[in-house]
Amino acid sequence: MRSIIIGGGVTGLSAAYEFVQAGVQPTLIEAQPFLGGVVQTETVEGCVLEGGPDSFLSAKPAANDLIRELGLGDQLIGSNDHSRITYLLRNGRLVPLPDGLLMMVPTKILPLAVSPLLSWSTKIRMGLELFRRPPSTPLPDRTVAEFIESHYGRETVDYLAEPLLSGVYGGSVDRLSVQSVLTRFVDLETKYGSLTRGVLAAKKQARRPAHPAPLFQTLKGGLAQLTHELERRIRPTAEIITGRAEFIHRTDSGYAVRVNGETLTARHLVMATPAWQAGQLLRPVHAKLAELLEGIDYSSSVTLALGYRRDQCGPIPPGFGFLIPARERQTLVACTFVGAKFPYRVPETHHVLRCFLGGAGDEKVLDLSDAEILTAVRAELKKLLGWDADPSFVRIRRWRRAMAQYSVGHTARIATVRAILHHLPGLQLAGNAYDGIGVPDCIRTGRASARTLSQQ
Ligand SMILES: Cc1cc2nc3c(=O)[nH]c(=O)nc-3n(C[C@H](O)[C@H](O)[C@H](O)COP(=O)(O)OP(=O)(O)OC[C@H]3O[C@@H](n4cnc5c(N)ncnc54)[C@H](O)[C@@H]3O)c2cc1C
Repeated sequence: MRSIIIGGGVTGLSAAYEFVQAGVQPTLIEAQPFLGGVVQTETVEGCVLEGGPDSFLSAKPAANDLIRELGLGDQLIGSNDHSRITYLLRNGRLVPLPDGLLMMVPTKILPLAVSPLLSWSTKIRMGLELFRRPPSTPLPDRTVAEFIESHYGRETVDYLAEPLLSGVYGGSVDRLSVQSVLTRFVDLETKYGSLTRGVLAAKKQARRPAHPAPLFQTLKGGLAQLTHELERRIRPTAEIITGRAEFIHRTDSGYAVRVNGETLTARHLVMATPAWQAGQLLRPVHAKLAELLEGIDYSSSVTLALGYRRDQCGPIPPGFGFLIPARERQTLVACTFVGAKFPYRVPETHHVLRCFLGGAGDEKVLDLSDAEILTAVRAELKKLLGWDADPSFVRIRRWRRAMAQYSVGHTARIATVRAILHHLPGLQLAGNAYDGIGVPDCIRTGRASARTLSQQ
């Protein structure tokens, strides 16, 4: 009887790898003719372009550990943190994020005081937040906007929380759950009342490593180096089926999966698709579970890589790129200066801009044609960077319902999902919908699901 994984993105590949390590021969079902899911790297004119994720947070060890285990440790590269400046658009101008901000929590007075990003009334409010007392009883889950507004005021929501989280989740701060998305800040609020006091206390307690890890890491040849290596490792052992799983039902000894007109039976089943797709497939297995999974929102976005020959365009400001708050937004949400953020990405001859569009509330951009998207983005870049060179290449990708949104109540929803799974032995859910949306979270949950099942 088989161990089946549905979904061949980084989550499913990590699960398959873990099964193989445990001596199990897994069957991996993937609808697309290629593995890797949203991890899609290509090289154009010597530039390494990421269509989906471009890196991962090094603070979460699962990706780093797996990469080393696969023998790719010498391929790891870190972000150029010494030159990390991020700009935000305010009143039509790109303004650098002041030094000393931990997301939206200020920890240094002077850089914030002299920054034109926020008004004086918000700066004073940020200072007074230091005197906030811990809540007398635990507070319920709230939206990120409600939470940040209660600490630092609405302007901090509009000009820090919203653009910073749009870049990560493509989500709306008016819906995202603070409990799920800013868990650490909620803990600091419970303990200290003031987030600023909490962050400063945590900083004091933490030992500064002699060589701090870079904030983001990736691989020299792009993240597909990881998914390709996983594929290479599993191919000799795993059965890989290209086809869309269409139907799942329970059997006496496990699950039956219909794919390519055939029914495969399995003792173990890992659902490594986005939650809404897992929900659709699992409806005949457990209607309530399906409803909970389908109720997890996903946002859609567009990524656009624009490559320029340096001798044909103007200079790029120093730093990693810029974010556009929704209040100032037209089409662009964010833009990364790829060659500045990472080494080994862009040769001296080129500049590459990686632009993000769409996300919650802005998803109509997915219906525009490539030409319409390009025209809108070029017009905005002309205003922001002052140049309108013809790109020497353009790559546009649309990501429909690809990024999970942890809305208010997400933690409680996932607790119910886990309670239901307890009664469905042999079934595991993994991926970005449950407790972390990044690549390391997907690797961690993918591997854990296979480990749990192979020990059953
Ligand atoms: C544009 C974008 C940028 C991102 N940037 C970052 C970043 O910089 N850093 C970071 O850490 N994270 C980032 N993320 C998030 C991270 O990339 C994802 O959470 C992660 O890659 C998801 O992997 P997955 O395998 O769970 O899902 P996916 O990659 O979506 O793979 C799921 C697979 O399941 C398959 N599938 C679905 N239904 C079926 C079916 N019925 N039968 C068979 N197969 C099926 C799909 O074809 C797909 O290949 C980004 C995500 C996106 C979309």
